Amino acid sequence: MSFPYEAPVSQSLFDRASAVTPGGVNSPVRAFRAVGGTPRFMVSGAGPYLTDADGREYVDLVCSWGPMILGHSHPEVIAAVQEAVARGTSFGTPGAGEVELAEEIVARIEPVEQVRLVSSGTEATMSAIRLARGFTGRPKVIKFAGCYHGHVDALLAAAGSGVATFGLPDTPGVTGAQAGDTIVLPYNDIEAVRAAFAAHPGEIACVITEASPGNMGVVPPLPGFNQGLKDLCAGNGALYISDEVMTGFRVSKAGWYGIDGVRPDLMTFGKVMGGGFPAAAFGGRADVMAHLAPVGPVYQAGTLSGNPVATAAGVAQLRLLDDAAYGAVDAVSAEVRGLVTAALTKEGVAHRLQAAGNMFSVFFTDADVTDYDGAKAQESFRFTAFFHSMLSQGVYLPPSAFEVWFLSTAHDTAAVERIAAALPAAARAAALATA
Ligand code: PLP
Repeated sequence: MSFPYEAPVSQSLFDRASAVTPGGVNSPVRAFRAVGGTPRFMVSGAGPYLTDADGREYVDLVCSWGPMILGHSHPEVIAAVQEAVARGTSFGTPGAGEVELAEEIVARIEPVEQVRLVSSGTEATMSAIRLARGFTGRPKVIKFAGCYHGHVDALLAAAGSGVATFGLPDTPGVTGAQAGDTIVLPYNDIEAVRAAFAAHPGEIACVITEASPGNMGVVPPLPGFNQGLKDLCAGNGALYISDEVMTGFRVSKAGWYGIDGVRPDLMTFGKVMGGGFPAAAFGGRADVMAHLAPVGPVYQAGTLSGNPVATAAGVAQLRLLDDAAYGAVDAVSAEVRGLVTAALTKEGVAHRLQAAGNMFSVFFTDADVTDYDGAKAQESFRFTAFFHSMLSQGVYLPPSAFEVWFLSTAHDTAAVERIAAALPAAARAAALATA
């Protein structure tokens, strides 16, 4: 497809980046490969807006893939960071900020009795899996196709075909040994989980699931699914790990747990809790966490874990996230969802707009999406046309049909009006798109 506008400064940065970094990016989806065109190199963010290197401003519906729930450059978060930076950037010792962030997490999420801070969501899920294996003394892990838990070797296994269901590696570099203990099952299929437990008695350490998946687009758990996972784990001596890296502190004060109330044994967090800095965590039952070094034998560590600047940002952000803040994000999310559906419906574009709290995504299909196969069946070429129309009109969407649209407390009437103004042409572009 052709791209109706240019971004020469971004393009020249991308050319330079491509010479020194694979694909020109440090995280693949940023490269715009799914939609084509020039990735925008952003230079600043303020409230709901991002400004790129060519000086164009966009309403941001990515919010750094979730973390910026208060919008960009929130003055209180920036002040906390500046104050922390002025005291030093890393000590390699315990610090008060880590205690405050841990206390904030434990106070918000009742099943988390103890928490360990790390630097990325990948580290959090990797460490939680190791801990589950160490605690249970069992090797196998159940995960679901379409759920992403970071680039942990064992968790990159996904069901690519029938025979791949039992843990064939999905990316070169992941060996059969690393992926061989991973059982990949279809999402929302509790009978498949029951069958896996029956087929591997005493071998399954844990089930890890996104609390409400967002990495195949938004595909919420069907009623009773998470409870079913919890019950099967409890009945079979396995741990139920709820990955709340995306949903945690975003969809409610207590994340998805605050919505469905199903009590995990372990949970993982990231994104929002770092206030835009690299901070993540895993936590849960105190008796399980007691297996971690230096108390127990399961080793886990990090040079920059609990970094004082990151924890200051996280504490400042979480303290601002009260019921009113979540109410505001929920309300603006509902408003934008209504606008998107209205625009696509007016143009006769088949779609499903699926939400999990204030997270949502649009599938270009006429069937409800309950699993990865359903997500992949959408007409993603329509998203490509829709995306570029929105981008050209100054609205920055996630550059993939399989990602969540994120909003913030900073998305005010002016920002919503800009989105509303861009939607009719984008919906028309989606309607006219051809494969
Ligand atoms: N788990 C979930 C549910 C995620 O959405 C992500 C990232 O998007 C991760 C884990 C990995 O987090 P990170 O990118 O910080 O390593």
